[in-house]
Amino acid sequence: MAKKTRQDFINAEVAKVTGDLTKLMRQGVAPWQRGFVPSVGGLGAQKIANLQQTYSGLNSMVLTMQAASAGYEHNVWGTYSAFKKKGYRVNQKSHARIICWFEKPYKDEDGEVVTDEWGDPVTYLAAKAVAVFNIAQTAEGADFKPKANRKPVAPLVESIDDAGELALAVLEGSKVTTKWQPTPSPCYVPALDEIRMPPVVNWLSAERMAKTLFHELAHATGAKHRLDRPGITDFSGFGSHGYALEELVAELTAASLCRLGGLDTPETDANSAAYLKSWAQKLDDNPSLWLSVAKQAEAAANWLVDAAEVSLSELETIAANR
Ligand SMILES: [Zn+2]
Repeated sequence: MAKKTRQDFINAEVAKVTGDLTKLMRQGVAPWQRGFVPSVGGLGAQKIANLQQTYSGLNSMVLTMQAASAGYEHNVWGTYSAFKKKGYRVNQKSHARIICWFEKPYKDEDGEVVTDEWGDPVTYLAAKAVAVFNIAQTAEGADFKPKANRKPVAPLVESIDDAGELALAVLEGSKVTTKWQPTPSPCYVPALDEIRMPPVVNWLSAERMAKTLFHELAHATGAKHRLDRPGITDFSGFGSHGYALEELVAELTAASLCRLGGLDTPETDANSAAYLKSWAQKLDDNPSLWLSVAKQAEAAANWLVDAAEVSLSELETIAANR
């Protein structure tokens, strides 16, 4: 019998995780939960006029996607005049994004703003095309420093070291630029080949922080100069078939690496299953889909462990100790 290799060990783990998680998905799981406290303006596109405010639902979603696909560092937007008022000059010939809805306060017959029982204006959505720009499209945008305005009262995760040996080795070995900074949500930006993670103190558990880091690193393996995976190299927009597939690959890779690193908990597994389920629903959830996802996750997990130069015996030691 041929000797067991590190690759066999990793592939067996990915297969087992795939089996466990697809079973969990079919049993039904609680909805996916965010593992961190967002430090910037909640989860959405912020307004330059008042950084504590975000655009309303649909506009915020559209702008957040635009920021991610253009590789803008900050999800901060505004009209030409709103930027001007704050001392920012929009670069000439910048391409504006059009948002179509905005909130308008109701006014009574005398033209007074109608307020609710807490004194807040009652608003409605009015259709109107408004041209907005990203802060990166201004002359002063490069100097913009996001301010963390929210974090847990007592940090639950103190240091990046809490993510465990495997995560640290993978992070270093992969050589993917990773910025720990206030961000509306963790992400990998293909255009810049970099990862953005909320600051360490914003995470609700070290396991969730490590799993998210593995998830973003898994996306990074798809870059042209790494595994050249179509989900990343042929990025065809959020919500597309290819993107949903890429999300499954990243999450399955992350869950497998958590197991390999001895970081999995019933909670992180349930949360992975919920995440996978939400994306799998967008695809034909059939056995051949999972076969192809597991193959790609195997390749990603192997690439990352290889870059980390973690040996088979080290993986076996972690497994024996969990
Ligand atoms: Zn992802």
